[in-house]
Amino acid sequence: MTELTTRASSINRALDQIGDKWCLLILQEVFWGINSFGGILQETGISRGVLSDRLKWLQDHDCLRRRGGARHPSYHLTHKSVDLYHNALMAVAWEDRYYDTPDIQAVRLVHRNCGKRFEPLMTCGHCHGAVDGRDVSFQPGPGATRDVRDKKVRRRSSLSADAIPSERHVYRNLVNLVGDRWTANVIALAFHDLHRFDEFRRELPVATNILADRMRFLVEQGIFETRPYQQRPLRHEYFLTDKGWDLFPWFLTVLQWGDRWCDPDGAGPPMELTHTACGHALQGRVVCDQCGEEVRPDEVDFTILNLERKAVRSSG
Ligand SMILES: [Zn+2]
Ligand SMILES: [Zn+2]
Repeated sequence: MTELTTRASSINRALDQIGDKWCLLILQEVFWGINSFGGILQETGISRGVLSDRLKWLQDHDCLRRRGGARHPSYHLTHKSVDLYHNALMAVAWEDRYYDTPDIQAVRLVHRNCGKRFEPLMTCGHCHGAVDGRDVSFQPGPGATRDVRDKKVRRRSSLSADAIPSERHVYRNLVNLVGDRWTANVIALAFHDLHRFDEFRRELPVATNILADRMRFLVEQGIFETRPYQQRPLRHEYFLTDKGWDLFPWFLTVLQWGDRWCDPDGAGPPMELTHTACGHALQGRVVCDQCGEEVRPDEVDFTILNLERKAVRSSG
């Protein structure tokens, strides 16, 4: 039996841990301060069995810590999952830009340091400019090997936002795109200037019909646009739209999180990024667009709908 392998990638490693649609929705609720089994059940609309399963999965991967007795357990962020805070902010920012979502318009983020309502912005740690994925180049890093991909990784692939039962729609369009393993992989590869179907297929151990289905979905969702490169037979290349490129900051937070938390052999990053706009190694920093300071989870207050929420804290 041949093993399934792909290029070592911190994005894939990270998403294999937390990228399942249900895991993303559960973490979102815990970020909003919903901690009880019943609370998460109600807010996400997940079935009990799936919720138990994913809570266990997230605990096994040190992304949630359980407190309290068997009757009234509650689930809390760990240092590892609180480190996904910038990722959650980038999800909200993208969703807000491309979807008319009342739940998001009800979110108010206030940066305690400057006292202002703010938008989170992905910037380069060196030149402080806003990061655009088109101004980033990739080089193999010390950990550039191949990863064996576990076929059993739990990634659901129902491709309809309506299939997400959550009452809360804060970033369900994004969850719907990246909560599918292959769709997320395809987007990540597109940042590397892959355009042709066969190029994606060479990189991914996935059946042709499934890949074709995902490519079609990404076109429908406005992430890719197609341009013909051959007439007989007609063949198209896939290009990221602005909406697709604007997912880059979200993926960058996933990549940096994966570099920090998903490097089992301690080999170092599989990939190094350069911000070509300034020529320096890219270390993405999420800052407050009002004062330019890096946004830290314990320095942000937010309100959502009618819920007052204070800063997120790890159970650390
Ligand atoms: Zn820079
Ligand atoms: Zn600020």
